[in-house]
Amino acid sequence: MMTTEQALEVYRSTGAILKGHFKLTSGRHSDTYMQSAKVFVDPKASETLCKALAEKLTEAGVEADVVISPAIGGILMGYEVARQLGKPNIFAERENGVMTLRRGFTIEKGTKFVVCEDVVTTGGSVKEVIALVKEAGGEVSAVASLVDRSNGKVDFGVKFVNLISMDITSYEPDECPLCKEGKIELVKPGSRVFTK
Ligand code: ZN
Repeated sequence: MMTTEQALEVYRSTGAILKGHFKLTSGRHSDTYMQSAKVFVDPKASETLCKALAEKLTEAGVEADVVISPAIGGILMGYEVARQLGKPNIFAERENGVMTLRRGFTIEKGTKFVVCEDVVTTGGSVKEVIALVKEAGGEVSAVASLVDRSNGKVDFGVKFVNLISMDITSYEPDECPLCKEGKIELVKPGSRVFTK
């Protein structure tokens, strides 16, 4: 089984671990950002990590009929995990702020899902997908992520399987020491180009 250190090494090798002053999707600020999109630039690295995660899901006894992920971050990961599990893959996306299924995707009653998200911080998007699945009569067997930034603090009410679980400090904007210091500009990853 892949260790946290091995998984981190793959992240590092693709330049996916960024240092600076970041605004996370959750709205919190942090000096570290796991830019998983950089992992998925490299199909081999993506396969290595998602294969390890799929194996971990199987070892954890997770049964799933379909993989689902929240757009945009989870889409590539969901695809590769589904490919490794030999299962179909769909994704949910926000429409007017509400997590929904588009593109002809449907949920059949009783279908078991694994929810995939590349990086979990507060788990907000994942919780919305879980609610969406349940509301449609589906079941959620587990949540799978490459990185759990909460270091096990997030509770989804189902099995949570991940490769890298670590406590990366983040702050409410008004409590952020980097903002108080004012030396490093706050950036929202994904909205501009970074170097390592
Ligand atoms: Zn800040």
